Amino acid sequence: QAKEAGRDQVRFFEPEMQARVEARFALEGDLRHAVERGELQMYLQPQVDAEGQIQAAEALMRWQHPQRGLVPPSHFIPVAEETGLILELGEWAMRETCRLLARAEAAGTPIRMAVNVSPRQFHRSGFIRRVRDILAETGADPTRLTMEVTEGLVIDRIHQTVATMSELRALGVHFSIDDFGTGYSSLAYLKRLPINELKIDKTFIQDAPSDPNDAALIDTILAVAAHLRLNVVAEGVETREQADFLTRRAPMLYQGYLFGRPEPAEGLLERLAAQQVMNSASS
Ligand code: C2E
Ligand code: MG
Ligand code: MG
Ligand code: MG
Repeated sequence: QAKEAGRDQVRFFEPEMQARVEARFALEGDLRHAVERGELQMYLQPQVDAEGQIQAAEALMRWQHPQRGLVPPSHFIPVAEETGLILELGEWAMRETCRLLARAEAAGTPIRMAVNVSPRQFHRSGFIRRVRDILAETGADPTRLTMEVTEGLVIDRIHQTVATMSELRALGVHFSIDDFGTGYSSLAYLKRLPINELKIDKTFIQDAPSDPNDAALIDTILAVAAHLRLNVVAEGVETREQADFLTRRAPMLYQGYLFGRPEPAEGLLERLAAQQVMNSASS
C-alpha cells in the first residue's frame, strides 16, 4: 500500500519538476546566445534631486526575447549568476553603459550613470584591467561612472574588496551600495570601504510614510550615511507622500516610477536635452 502511494507521489511530481527543469534549461540555452544575437539592451532610469532635476541615471538590463517577449531581470539574472553567464552579461552591461556615457557627453548632456556589478564579476581576476580596456575603448569619462554593488560582495573578502575598489577609485570611478539595509550591514565593514553612496532599498521606502518601523530604519540609514559622509539615493519612490517624507529628512536623490521608469536611452537623453534648454532659458 505504502509503496503504491509512494510511487503515485513520484509519478505526480515528476512531470511538473521535469517541466520546470526543461524550462530552466531552455532559458539558459537562449541566454547563452542573447548577447551575440543582440537581444539585450540597457535601459536608463533617472535619479532626480528635490527640484526634480535629473542628476544621474541607473542602467538596467533588458532582454527582448524573440518568442518570450521582454524577460525581466528577476528571471534571468539569477540564472546568469548560477551558470557564470553573468560574467559575459556583466561585461556587456559595463561596455554598453560606458558607450551611453560617451554618447551623452558627445550630445552635450554629460551625466553620471550607474551600472550594477555582480560579486562574481567584481572578484574575477582581471576585472580592473577589463574596466580599463572598456573605458579606453569607449572613451567614457570614468569620473561619471558609478558601480553599484551589494553588501554580499564583502563577505570574507574585505581585503580584496577594499583593494579592488581603491584601484578603481583612483581612476575616478564611484561606488554605491545597492539595496542597502537588506543584507549584512556591518558598520565596521562599511567604514573601511571606499564607497561614495548608499541606495536605500525600495522595500523600506514603500511603507515609510505610514510604518514607524520603516521610518526608523530610514532615519538610521540616513544617520549612518551622514556620519560616513555618503550620498544617498532612495530607490522605488512611487508616490508624492514617499517623496515628501524623504525630502523632510535629508538631501538625497530619488529614483522611482514617480519620476520616471527605466526606458530606452534615447528617452532619457531627450529629457536631459530638454532640461538643459529649460535651465539656460531661466538663468
Ligand atoms: P536594482 O539594481 O536594485 O535595480 C532597481 C530595480 O527597481 C529595477 O528593477 C527598477 O526597474 C526597479 N524600480 C525602480 N523604481 C521603481 C519603483 O518606483 N517601483 C518598483 N516597484 N520598482 C522600481 P529591474 O530593472 O527589474 O532590475 C532588477 C534587478 O536586476 C536589479 O535591482 C539588479 O539587481 C538586477 N540587474 C538589472 N540589470 C543588471 C545588470 O546589468 N547587471 C547585474 N549584475 N544585475 C542587474
Ligand atoms: Mg542597482
Ligand atoms: Mg537597488
Ligand atoms: Mg533593489
